[in-house]
Amino acid sequence: MGGLTLKNKLLIYTNNSSRSRLVKEEFLRKAQAKGLQIVDDQDSPDYIVTIGGDGTLLQAFHQFQAYLSQAQFVGIHTGHLGFYTDWQPQQMDELIQFLSQPKGQSITYPLLQVTLRYKDGKKESLLALNEFTLRSNKGTIVSEVFIKDYFFETFRGDGLCVATPTGSTGLSKSLGGAVIHPRLDALQMTEMASINNRVYRTLSGPIIIAKDEWIKLIPIADKTAFSLSVDHLHYEDKAVQAIRVQIAQERIAFASFKHLHFWNRVEGSFIGRKY
Ligand code: NAP
Repeated sequence: MGGLTLKNKLLIYTNNSSRSRLVKEEFLRKAQAKGLQIVDDQDSPDYIVTIGGDGTLLQAFHQFQAYLSQAQFVGIHTGHLGFYTDWQPQQMDELIQFLSQPKGQSITYPLLQVTLRYKDGKKESLLALNEFTLRSNKGTIVSEVFIKDYFFETFRGDGLCVATPTGSTGLSKSLGGAVIHPRLDALQMTEMASINNRVYRTLSGPIIIAKDEWIKLIPIADKTAFSLSVDHLHYEDKAVQAIRVQIAQERIAFASFKHLHFWNRVEGSFIGRKY
């Protein structure tokens, strides 16, 4: 058959910064010179390459969810070192060399499946890479919290956040949640400013649950009183009766050629070397 080798197909997604656009131009030039195929979102890619920050990768994840089972993500960061973005523009030649090889191994991380059950009985299912939140629009919200089908507590406060292990370094950490190694298939619920008195009482600390368990929230409020979010996407006015959050069957895959040690990234992002 004449030694014809099919080159990997790359889908490129970038944020709007001038630095990212310059990096994209250089990347396209070098990738095409190596014979890599650049495809649009109509064609199924082998790799989804994002150029920007963690927020850029989150957007690409939501835009290209249809390709989760076959594509590996690769993040080039053009700002500070991120959790999903571990390539730097100066390593582009090495990265393109890697992408020119037959598709290699990947490392996969858990996602959240968020199932919304509406008051009219309809259901909707969403995937989150970082976290899901239920928050008040004004004042406080009240929500019943079940773990599996066991009634756990009645929460009153600003909101609740349920995060993935990779999302544990995002909003969840700012809410006092623990940083969780992404090899663990677990999800973590944190509270936003809970009120604790004789009527409402919650654990007042983060909880981490196992992959065969789920969290069910039943907001006791009119739909205008709360909003929902899945990563950077926010939803208002949803007539939701119950929300179930669990580890999804789908996972996100990252090209594992040069994946930084997780705790190295945590240290680099939040502590930083002092020498
Ligand atoms: P945004 O203001 O555009 O981004 C918030 C910051 O969170 C950015 O610096 C982003 O990094 C960083 N980030 C995103 N995912 C992360 C992760 N897994 N670990 C560590 N840092 C992460 O916010 P947005 O677009 O509305 O929301 C996107 C995400 O930002 C949310 O899913 C949430 O986890 C996070 N967030 C955090 C807080 C907080 O800590 N108080 C508040 C809002 C949102 P880059 O600069 O690399 O893009």
